[in-house]
Amino acid sequence: MEANANRSDRPGRVSVDQEQVVDLALSAERAVVWSLDFATDRLTWRPGLDRLLGIEGAGEAEVRSRLAELVEPLVIAARTASLWQDLELEQPYESPDGRTLWLRFRARNFDGHLLGIANNVTDRHEDRRELADLADRYRLLIELSPDAIAVHQDGLVTYANPAAARFAGAGSPAELLGRPVTDFVAVESVSDMAERLRQLTEPGATTQPAEAFFVRSDGTRFPMEVVSVRTTWAGRPAYQVIMRDVSAQRAAEAALRYQAALVEHVSDAIIATDAEGLVTSWNPAAEDIYGLPSAKALGCPVSELVGAALDPAAVVAGGGVGQQTHRAADGSALVMRVSAAEMNGGYVLVCADETARRRAEQQYRTVVASLDEGVLVIGPSGRLLSANPAAERILGLPEADLLGSSPREWPVYDERGNRLSPDEFPSAVVRRGGKALQGRVLRVPRPGGRDVWLSVSCRAMTPDDCEFSSFVVSFADITERRAIGERLAHEATHDPLTGLANRTLVLDKLGAMLRTREHAPTAVLFIDLDKFKVINDSLGHSVGDRVLRIAGERLRRTVRSTDVVGRLGGDEFVVIANGIDGEAATRALTEHLRDSLTQPIWVDSRRLHVDASIGIVLAGPEDRRTAEELLRDADVAMYQAKTRGRSRYEFFDVGLRRRMQRRLRLEQDLRDAVRHGRLWTAYQPVVDLSTDRVVAVEALLRWNHPIHGPVSPTEFIPLAEESDLINLLGAHMLGETTRELGIQRDRGTEVDLKVNLSTRQLDDPALVTAVEHALATAGLPPSALCLEITESALMRDFVLASETLTALRELGVRLAIDDFGTGYSSLAQLQRLTLDTLKIDRSFVNRLGRSRDAEAIVTSIIAMAHAVELTVVAEGVENAEQLELLRGLGCDQAQGYYLGRPRPAHELWA
Ligand code: C2E
Ligand code: CA
Ligand code: CA
Repeated sequence: MEANANRSDRPGRVSVDQEQVVDLALSAERAVVWSLDFATDRLTWRPGLDRLLGIEGAGEAEVRSRLAELVEPLVIAARTASLWQDLELEQPYESPDGRTLWLRFRARNFDGHLLGIANNVTDRHEDRRELADLADRYRLLIELSPDAIAVHQDGLVTYANPAAARFAGAGSPAELLGRPVTDFVAVESVSDMAERLRQLTEPGATTQPAEAFFVRSDGTRFPMEVVSVRTTWAGRPAYQVIMRDVSAQRAAEAALRYQAALVEHVSDAIIATDAEGLVTSWNPAAEDIYGLPSAKALGCPVSELVGAALDPAAVVAGGGVGQQTHRAADGSALVMRVSAAEMNGGYVLVCADETARRRAEQQYRTVVASLDEGVLVIGPSGRLLSANPAAERILGLPEADLLGSSPREWPVYDERGNRLSPDEFPSAVVRRGGKALQGRVLRVPRPGGRDVWLSVSCRAMTPDDCEFSSFVVSFADITERRAIGERLAHEATHDPLTGLANRTLVLDKLGAMLRTREHAPTAVLFIDLDKFKVINDSLGHSVGDRVLRIAGERLRRTVRSTDVVGRLGGDEFVVIANGIDGEAATRALTEHLRDSLTQPIWVDSRRLHVDASIGIVLAGPEDRRTAEELLRDADVAMYQAKTRGRSRYEFFDVGLRRRMQRRLRLEQDLRDAVRHGRLWTAYQPVVDLSTDRVVAVEALLRWNHPIHGPVSPTEFIPLAEESDLINLLGAHMLGETTRELGIQRDRGTEVDLKVNLSTRQLDDPALVTAVEHALATAGLPPSALCLEITESALMRDFVLASETLTALRELGVRLAIDDFGTGYSSLAQLQRLTLDTLKIDRSFVNRLGRSRDAEAIVTSIIAMAHAVELTVVAEGVENAEQLELLRGLGCDQAQGYYLGRPRPAHELWA
């Protein structure tokens, strides 16, 4: 090595001695001194540089070139740097032996010289890199750790790895920093965790792994296994927490427990074997089914235990499932469904005991076969899979014809007679709706021609999956029950005598029409047969029934088929014509009905005649009356028709109802009046025109109404006639007047008594005896009593009247025809009635002297009456002129206001 020749002539040059010391010091540092003369660019160095450069023993030229290359940046810097400046350069260096060395060159810029030392600092460099590498690797470990790792200090998070962020449901670790740890710990775990941290008193102390619950940002909780370590962070105590998500582990544990429980508790035998078929596991169900404890079973060949050749490998090869008959330890046979799978080099066998199910199936089949109900099973495709014997019997088809057929194509009808579309078939309905069907009534034609009515129920075999289910259709033959039901329903709604609708059905149908009426007017005709009671009473009920049947039939035949004809009871019928075109059409219909009713009826070769009083209500679309109200109003109108003389019809109007109501009230008052004796009798004298003496008195009934005052008999008598009240009144009159006359006769007053009789009284079978009794009680001879019956009444009920009148005649009572001239009676008829007296109606008497016609009529009446030997009485004589005229015309007797007003007995005979 060459010494630096010029160093002594440089300022601050070290002396040689000093150089030796420096060398020594430097060698301890393994440093080598080098220098450069700027003037010559000559590099010099102290010994040891070759070793430093890893080229020990190399020639001077090689050492120089390597050194020059290494220090070049220093040299360049030094040329431009100021004097005395220290320069330093540390750089890697590839030594020829392949090592990477780190060399440090330090130098100071002297005047014209650069003096430096070179060190090998490789060792220091390697230490630092390893540390950095380690830190890098550690950081990666933490960042990539699947476990959550976090550091907290003073309760706040100061570090979190990505896993921690993930578990916490945060977007990045940064979001967690600075937040309280308690934000992430479930409330119930906080105190435990704090307690564990408190125990970490020493730096580096670690907690035992413990489970705690954490909370995600969305609030869900999850279990973590936690280990905390006491550490330092930025020089102060902190805790590093390592958390492992154990939910999967817990789930796996739960799954294992579940599987174990399953094996423990299933009802199927679960048997594990090794490859040779020796049992390695035998669950409690296997113990039960085969009657063998696990302890005995383990290690034994499975075939021996189940009493059958059971080769798991063969079962697996055959598709994994098979059926076998096994034997239990007690020798009983078991029907088993066996499935097998390979597992861990052995097998696991699942043996399901189907013995009970088979038995149940067998029982079920027997039950179904013995049912009275038909049972069909329809497959998912809609084809019939099975049919029990009852189904064959009810449907009239052998099983062979049924199986495989498609019931949805059968002709099946509903109760209205509509054929079911395939969609409406019970199984299709259940498939769509998912709900079982019960008691659907259907009609199915049988091959023989007779239809059967069925009550059909249907349910899906697997209700949760109707789409692919089979369906059980069961049905009972209700043909007979239905027939009875229909008959009962018919009986409940029809009149047994005529077969017509009864009141209930009439109201039902009328109600239905009203609901759907819209713009169709409806006519309700209330028809009451006139004089039916007479026929019934005199000819007997069987004749009456036949007349009613014929009348009903005539009504039915006369109306349209859409009209309703009903019988409300007795001789009351109703016709409802829906959609009739107004009043004119209704009149035409009514006339038509009356025409047909009044045709003679022949019963037992007797010619009978009925007529009817008809009340009509027309209800337009705007009408708000109910069916009951319409029927009631038609009844009112009919009543009106009856009071207006029967054999006619009346339309209902509102005034009619009001009048009706007054009548009803009056009728009630009249009843009370009879009961409380508020009726009294007035007597009007009848004078013999040849002697001018009073020969008789006519009894006229009087009623003083407490509110209305005197009510005329022309109003209240017809009222009474409409009910049985007239008979009561009649009897009262007869009793009272005969008694009165008896008294007067005893006093020597030789007069006869005239009492008016209503036709309704002639209907009363008790009349004749009542008259007889009254006369006897009063001690009067029958000839002292003359009963007056109006001409029109007589003519209306001629046949009947004549019978009763004859009976009265036979008693010796006299008879008079009242109001003569107002009717159309013929002389021949009058003769047949064997009357005594004819009373000229006061309307003729009233016109005498004012009308020639009246005089002529009166003249001819008198002549005619005298011709058949009747006594003629003129009533309503109000003046002398009338009296004289009548006298002149040969009238026998007269009465009237001119001769004496009707007065109470005590006044008349005072
Ligand atoms: P009628 O049998 O024709 O009775 C005669 C009616 O003429 C009576 O009316 C009487 O008051 C009235 N009269 C008598 N003289 C005159 C007169 O000079 N001029 C006028 N304008 N009228 C006269 P009344 O009492 O109102 O009786 C009316 C009808 O009531 C009777 O007519 C009779 O048909 C009926 N009636 C009265 N009482 C009874 C009774 O007890 N039973 C029955 N069934 N009917 C009776
Ligand atoms: Ca009279
Ligand atoms: Ca009269």
